[in-house]
Amino acid sequence: MDKIVTGSFQLMKKINRTLILDIIRQHGPISRAEIAKMTKLTPPTVTNLVRDLLKTGIVVEGDRMSSSGGRKAIELKINPRAYYVIGVDVGISKVHTVVTDLEAKILQEVYIPLKPEDYPGIIDLIIRSIEQVVNQFKVDKEKLIGIGVGMHGLVNSREGIAVFAPNFNLHDVPVKALIEEKLEIPTYVDNDVRAMALGESWFGHGQDVGNFVMLNVGYGIGAGIVFNHEVYHGVSESAGEIGHTTVVDDGPRCNCGNYGCLEVMAAGPAIAQRAIKEIKRGVLTSLTHRAGEDLEHITAKMVYEEAKRGDELSLRIMEDTGRYLGIGVANLINILNPEKVVIGGGVAQAGDILFEPLVQTAMMRAMEVPARSVQIVPSLLGEKAGVIGAATLVLRQLFKVTKVEE
Ligand SMILES: [Zn+2]
Repeated sequence: MDKIVTGSFQLMKKINRTLILDIIRQHGPISRAEIAKMTKLTPPTVTNLVRDLLKTGIVVEGDRMSSSGGRKAIELKINPRAYYVIGVDVGISKVHTVVTDLEAKILQEVYIPLKPEDYPGIIDLIIRSIEQVVNQFKVDKEKLIGIGVGMHGLVNSREGIAVFAPNFNLHDVPVKALIEEKLEIPTYVDNDVRAMALGESWFGHGQDVGNFVMLNVGYGIGAGIVFNHEVYHGVSESAGEIGHTTVVDDGPRCNCGNYGCLEVMAAGPAIAQRAIKEIKRGVLTSLTHRAGEDLEHITAKMVYEEAKRGDELSLRIMEDTGRYLGIGVANLINILNPEKVVIGGGVAQAGDILFEPLVQTAMMRAMEVPARSVQIVPSLLGEKAGVIGAATLVLRQLFKVTKVEE
C-alpha cells in the first residue's frame, strides 16, 4: 500500500514536472507565478519542481521581468543546447542523419546514399551514420538524450520494430533494440511519414492547427494524420496508407498486389515510368536527350525539370500526376475534414506545375463544406521534414506528459 502511494506520488511529480517543462518550452520566458496560474499548481509546488528542472540544466533563469505588482520576477526559459538529439530519416535512396538541439535546430548532418545492394546491411548503415554525425559534431555521449528514427514501411512504434518494409525486404526487425544495444542511447522508431507529420506539427505548418494531414509524395506515397495535435496510428499502426487506395480501377499493378493504387499512378517511379512508356511509343520529348543511352535513367526530377522548360510530354505527365494526387487529397478532405493538407516529399518540389492541377482537382472533387475550410500547402520543413520529424520523436518523450515512460 505504502509503495503504491509513494509510486503514484513520484509519478505525479514526474507528470507535473513534464507539464511545467512543456509550458516553459511553449510560453517561455515565463515566471514561476505565471506557471502556477496556468497549471493551477500551488506556488511552492512550482518552485520545488522548477528547482529539479534547473538542476538538469534544461531550464535556465534569465533576466528579471516586470510583473504586474511592480516586483520583478525571474523568467525561466529552455536552454536548447543543454542536451542534443539525433534524428535519422531512412528513405529508399538515402539515410539522412542529423544532430539537433532541443528546438530541433539542425547543427550537423550526414547524407549516405543508398543503393539496393546496401539494403541487407541497412541497420549497420544507420548505426554508422549516427556514429559519423556524432564524431563530426564532437558531442559527449552523455549530452545525447535520444535517437529518433523515421523508417520507410510499416513500423510498430511502441516496440520500435520495422514490421514490413517491402523495398528493404525487412520483416520484423527490432530496430530500436539493435541500435540501443550498439550505442546505448534511448531510441524511438516510427514510420517516416508519421514522423514527418509530428515534425510538421511541432515546427512546421501544424503549429497553429490541431487537425491536419501530411501527404508525402516521393518514392512512395503515404499520409500522416494529426488529430488534436497527436499523430494517429490506427489499431495496427498502418493508418494513413493513402498511397494504396485505388484511383484507377484497371491501372498498373502495385507492389501491394492491388491495381491502380495512387502510389503506382503518382509517386516518383510512376512519373518516370509513364515518361519512358510514352518515349517508347515514339513521342518526341527533350527527356530523350536527358536520358542519354538508357531510358531507365529518367527520373521524376528530370520530368518536372523538363516540364518547367516547356516540354510538352513532361507537362502532360506532371498535370496527370497532379490530378491523381488531387483525387487522393479530395478523399482525405472528405473523410477527415482537416484544417490543412500539407504536401511534402521529393515530388512536391516540382512546385506550381504539380500544385495547380492538384489543388484544382481536390477542390473540384471534395465536398463543398470541408473544401471551404481546408488549406493545401507545401511542407514548411521541405526536405528536412524527415530528420526534424525523427528528432521530434525524442523531443516528444522529453516534453509530453502522455508519453512519459516509467
Ligand atoms: Zn498499392
